[in-house]
Amino acid sequence: MIALPEKNARLAHGERSLFGVSVIVCLTLFALAGALFVSRERANLAETRTETGAVAAALEAARVSFAEDMRLRADRLPQPMAQARLQAAEPVRLAGDAYLIDLARDLPPARGVDVDLADLLRAIMPLAAETGAADVGLRGPLAGRAAETSWGAPRSAIAFPGGRPAFVSIVPYTGAEATRLALVGIRPIDTAALAALARVADTMRLEIMPAAQAPEGAAVVELVPAPDGKAQALVWQPRRPGELLVGSVAWLLIVFAVIFAAFTVVHARRVTVEAADDEAQTLDAVGQDPLTGLPNHSLFTRLLESEIERVRRTVNEHGAAILRLNCDRFQEINDTFGREAGDKVMCALAHRLGNLLRASGRLARLDADDFGIVQTDVVGPRDVEMLARRIIDALAEPFEIDDRKVYVGLSIGIALCPQDADSAAELLRRADVALYRAKNEGRNRYAFFEQKVGDQLRMRKVVEDDLRTAIETGALLLQYQPIMDISGKRMVGVESLVRWPHPVHGLISPANFVALAEECDLILPLGDWVLRRALTDMRLWPGLKVGVNVSAVQFRQKDFGENIQKLLQETGIEPERLELELTESVLLSDADAAEESMIDLRAMGIRLALDDFGTGYSSLIYLRRFAFDKIKIDKTFLESLETAGEGAIIVHSIVHLGRALGLTVTAEGVESADQHRFLQALGCHELQGYLFSKPVSAADITRRLRAQESAEEQSRAVA
Ligand code: C2E
Ligand code: CA
Ligand code: CA
Repeated sequence: MIALPEKNARLAHGERSLFGVSVIVCLTLFALAGALFVSRERANLAETRTETGAVAAALEAARVSFAEDMRLRADRLPQPMAQARLQAAEPVRLAGDAYLIDLARDLPPARGVDVDLADLLRAIMPLAAETGAADVGLRGPLAGRAAETSWGAPRSAIAFPGGRPAFVSIVPYTGAEATRLALVGIRPIDTAALAALARVADTMRLEIMPAAQAPEGAAVVELVPAPDGKAQALVWQPRRPGELLVGSVAWLLIVFAVIFAAFTVVHARRVTVEAADDEAQTLDAVGQDPLTGLPNHSLFTRLLESEIERVRRTVNEHGAAILRLNCDRFQEINDTFGREAGDKVMCALAHRLGNLLRASGRLARLDADDFGIVQTDVVGPRDVEMLARRIIDALAEPFEIDDRKVYVGLSIGIALCPQDADSAAELLRRADVALYRAKNEGRNRYAFFEQKVGDQLRMRKVVEDDLRTAIETGALLLQYQPIMDISGKRMVGVESLVRWPHPVHGLISPANFVALAEECDLILPLGDWVLRRALTDMRLWPGLKVGVNVSAVQFRQKDFGENIQKLLQETGIEPERLELELTESVLLSDADAAEESMIDLRAMGIRLALDDFGTGYSSLIYLRRFAFDKIKIDKTFLESLETAGEGAIIVHSIVHLGRALGLTVTAEGVESADQHRFLQALGCHELQGYLFSKPVSAADITRRLRAQESAEEQSRAVA
């Protein structure tokens, strides 16, 4: 492994700065949370204090106001009434729980008085003492108190007559002589009074209970000790503005924390990705492919240059070769199994290639699915050929990736040094040209560089540009070849065949440009054009079936069926008249998807034909699995019909097989009357070939159809 100090330093720096930011933010969050907690407590405490003050003040105000009420009442008490009552010599109850009592007398049992006066007096004893009532011979319950004071000022307080809290007051009744008359008032601190207090103090519901029993967090204003000695108190739950504060600020903090966490995750990922990128870049700089560990393109070029130099210097015949290897359809592996599995396959492939090569050369990964080999000590092309063949053979074995078997095909292009070129760049280019040819010739094979191919390739570029323009400008031509019934007399359908009228090369056959169109992404616009043209022409030929060739690339498009349906609707053609001609290549790459599309197409009413039947290698399997309406026997079997017996046997078998499966059997490439008779004898259904007609223009088909119709009419008339 290569030491990567710079990368480590960068990674470490990235991690350190992230760590630093995290620590600072965490500390800040902690500090904020602490401050929040303290302010919460403070705010709660301040509120409790404020409320306590307010309650105490309200209580005091209520007491004072009650005392004032009583004083006013005493002032207004009429003299004669007082005298008269006193004659009765017993406490007189006035309205609103006020009592006129002569404190100088013994208290007789309280008749008509529903408050226990003795108890009341006991409760207000301290007040009574203060008013100076004691010295005038207060007896009964108040006896024993003997302070020599004058009969004096009004007093009021909170007391507990009957154990219940109340405002009480004593107002000396100065109007009476030789008596110690007092107006004693009592106003219970009941629920209504508590509610009024709460209102005034602007607090929650007030309760009275022993201070010791107040629940946690409650605010308390102590009343004077109750007679049983237990401190009674006003108790309530004060508001907690701190909670409100926490509520709002905590949300902010949480939102901030979440944002920060998200930021950290994203940043951490970026640091990792950057580190990986750094690593890739660093590996790249030292010439190593990060995935496989093989030399990369630049290192490969250097290796190649030094090998060329070595070849130049050596006196013996030994040269070198460069092989360019490109995976066939590696993208499909990525698409099917996922990128990760694709990477594993790539590594396994690199490993297998490396094992094959051993000391005979150097392997490199030049690009995504592109490998290069510099083979050393090459005596002649046979040495290179052997290596290429060993590579292709080695790939016949699948790779086992995640319990799945994955097949990888390779095409190889070969250029020789010094024969083909003696500079690295030119050797690479020529190997590339050879690779192109290997691909074109059907993939999974190797090809040597040939000057001719290089020229062809240049030509290809020109052709590609022309074809693009032809498709875009609608300069193509669609011809139709009649398909006859078995008598060979009646046209039952046509097959559409595209042509490219080229200004220089004349009418170019699709055999020469459909493959090219597939390679350079022109097949879709081409296929669209053909379908639209065919469906438009079909309007001229009511009842006639028309076959349209569909390329595998075109068929694999997700919206293929949808497009056809749209076109059918636009043109108003009955779907049963459209027959799509598919080859096995359509079914090969993704049989499941193909099956699904075929079911959809058939559901629309479109007919499906298996074209070039017999040229593939597992046609029977396809026939059983896929729902075709027709098979078209490939014309190569007809060609060999006369020369060898084999062709006849095959055609015979295919016709019988098709008939047995209930399919329409069409023979293509019928050129002679002998072939026609043979096919008739076998019971083939339909015929197509130069014997009946070459592909012709749409206008020609219209003419033929008219002629056929009028001939049929005539024969009907004759009959
Ligand atoms: P194919 O589908 O097998 O079409 C039949 C080919 O055989 C046509 O060649 C036709 O002209 C030729 N042929 C017909 N009768 C005879 C005969 O008696 N003797 C001989 N020797 N040949 C005969 P063409 O028109 O050159 O088309 C070649 C191939 O190009 C077609 O083979 C088809 O696979 C493809 N092709 C044609 N048109 C289209 C198209 O619109 N789209 C796509 N994707 N492919 C097309
Ligand atoms: Ca065809
Ligand atoms: Ca065919």
